[in-house]
Amino acid sequence: MNAPEAWRHLEPKIEAVGQRIRQLEWDSSRRNNFVPYTADGNTPYVMLDGERLLMMSGYGYIGLNGDTRVVAAAKAAIDEYGTGTPGVRALAGTIPLHEELEEEVAHFLGRESALVFSSGYAGNVGTIGALCGPGDTIFLDKLDHASIVDGAQLTGATLTRFRHNDPGHLDRRLAAAEPGGTRLVIVDSVYSMDGDIAPLPELREVCDRHGALLMVDEAHALGVIGATGRGIEEHFEYKVRADIKVGTLSKAVPANGGWIVGSKPFMDYVKRFARPFLFSAALAPAQVGAALESLRILDREPERVTYAQRESARFRDIVKQAGFNTADSETAVVPLIVGSDQNAWDYASALRKAGVIGLPVISPAVPPGLARLRIAITAAHSRADIDFAIDAFVSAARQTGLLS
Ligand code: PMP
Repeated sequence: MNAPEAWRHLEPKIEAVGQRIRQLEWDSSRRNNFVPYTADGNTPYVMLDGERLLMMSGYGYIGLNGDTRVVAAAKAAIDEYGTGTPGVRALAGTIPLHEELEEEVAHFLGRESALVFSSGYAGNVGTIGALCGPGDTIFLDKLDHASIVDGAQLTGATLTRFRHNDPGHLDRRLAAAEPGGTRLVIVDSVYSMDGDIAPLPELREVCDRHGALLMVDEAHALGVIGATGRGIEEHFEYKVRADIKVGTLSKAVPANGGWIVGSKPFMDYVKRFARPFLFSAALAPAQVGAALESLRILDREPERVTYAQRESARFRDIVKQAGFNTADSETAVVPLIVGSDQNAWDYASALRKAGVIGLPVISPAVPPGLARLRIAITAAHSRADIDFAIDAFVSAARQTGLLS
């Protein structure tokens, strides 16, 4: 078979994607994906095509990206350990800073031990793969993150989905499942596209009744919910615990990486069975240094969390009053639901003209007809920034006919 012949099944797919991109990007001011934004120091502003725009769709929940202390820690880590890690963690890749970071993560989250992965995605795939295999059953919330779904699919376990944030439906799914094997229920603590919180006490009760393990992904909960940003257990005042907690170092913590916390024997087990941990290079020194310093700052400066919580509640109240649909958001993640994909693009484009970036999330990332701008209120946004953004959201919505 010659080379062009070998591509024949792929070529129509590649051409269809090219056509869609050309359709969407005919006007560069309407381009929303893969745009190279230049950060403007430790501010919520970005530079794009010579314009300074207020970014309202970033992940930096506690405003630490570009913080001079975090930058200095990353530089110090490079000075001491270089730019790369010469191997995987099990071989030459572990540096003392990895172990310091793991101690800090475990200490911050109130568990005996922790492991860090090279991304949150790798952490989910590795953790789920270490926990389950053929003969086991995994129960996933319909809105679980893609890394959870992918990790679960790779295990060869039986997969079952339950309705979003519906412990009653999970209960019925568990009752109907084949007996035997590990039963693992996985939820996001905070859902990244909706900003709502998993009902941990009810899920715990259902899991206990059916002998299932409960795993939470704290990616959007760390630094966001709980009085001091310690996530979903703190949010529910430590009345219940999850069996397995994982998260990322790429959102409130402005670095890269994923983490899991648990008992020392459990971490020793995960270390030896999580394939992305075993077979992918260790997290780079700069990331480890930045993550460690950010967690220490989060520990010392919980007012960053309370500020963002207060301002996101204020933001939600105002935009709801103005007539926006923010679904069931109760966190810093606030969707502004606008309906069709086209509405989302038109709205984002009008917003950009008003000096604000609000990024559209369209199907299949969200159900058709529920396209939205995914807004995040962070500790980097001053009250004046947020008020400026609110004015822009409302005026752009009126201009595009989304609000009357
Ligand atoms: N879990 C959730 C809920 C996420 O939203 C994300 C990233 N968007 C991840 C895991 C993956 O994390 P990372 O980007 O650090 O790989």
